Amino acid sequence: MLKVENVTKYYGDIKAVDNLSFEVRPGEIFGLLGVNGAGKTTTFRMITNLLDPTSGKITLNGKKIDYNMTDKIGFLTEERSLLTKLTVKEQCYFFGALKGMSDNEIEKSMNSLLNEFEVAEYKERKIKELSKGNQQKIQFVTAILNHPKLLILDEPFSGLDPINVELFKKVIIRLANEGSMIIFSSHRMEHVELFCEKLVILVHGKSVLEGYLKDIKENYQKKNILIKGDLTKKDLENIDGVIKVEKLKDEFNVQIKDKSYIDIVFNNIKKFKIIKFVVEEPTLNEIFVEKVGESYEK
Ligand code: ATP
Repeated sequence: MLKVENVTKYYGDIKAVDNLSFEVRPGEIFGLLGVNGAGKTTTFRMITNLLDPTSGKITLNGKKIDYNMTDKIGFLTEERSLLTKLTVKEQCYFFGALKGMSDNEIEKSMNSLLNEFEVAEYKERKIKELSKGNQQKIQFVTAILNHPKLLILDEPFSGLDPINVELFKKVIIRLANEGSMIIFSSHRMEHVELFCEKLVILVHGKSVLEGYLKDIKENYQKKNILIKGDLTKKDLENIDGVIKVEKLKDEFNVQIKDKSYIDIVFNNIKKFKIIKFVVEEPTLNEIFVEKVGESYEK
């Protein structure tokens, strides 16, 4: 288990991370979310021992993370750091050797991953000759070559097209199913929502919301109702408990204060011809925007 306990980091006078605590267990996919400058990269650098926390403790399976554990960790950094003059194969051998893998292990793992990422044909090509998306695939391959117990992914989806986002997601889920602990950062909530179980939202280095995504959504008071029928935006806005009405293509998204207002809305629109009335959980994006917004107002 990865355990981050009461970790704070100052750069001079700047508090980049503020008393942060969370845990990630084998098989869990954990999202570290926040706007630019929230402290995500600093947290990753402390987990990988590139930076020391000013205070607090970080352990992997009860031990402080140090150089001897690098073979158990995979890190996809935000800044892409490939050795572009090397071929894909040379790059894999270089990173594999750094992780203490034998040539045999590297060869097996590299071939299987290059196939999974559909880039096997580029094995002998120089990195600089590959497209940006394929370079990102190679960087990901090198980060997971050693089948890490702990995999840290800083903005893994940035710059990827939707097909490749799916491919990356599939591999991340496979690794989690095989028992890796996965922690990743993102400010794209739609990516997070689809496959992350547990998360923390950081604002100015401080956690403003944390826990299991399912619980966060259930406990979030505001709900959305999708309504389609022969009524107008005004008809809905005047109902008690309605916070916001948004006109979508041919239906309305009605945000209500909490679930106790579902019946009230339903009773108020019974007189119209209604062909759709669906209550939905809020999106993570809505929760994120509200939580981040609230803490900026404080
Ligand atoms: P982004 O999404 O933009 O990558 P982030 O959430 O990863 O942001 P960090 O890079 O961890 O955020 O930065 C957190 C805070 O610490 C910011 O205010 C940043 O300016 C500051 N900071 C980061 N690195 C340093 C440094 N080396 N020296 C001084 N301040 C720093």
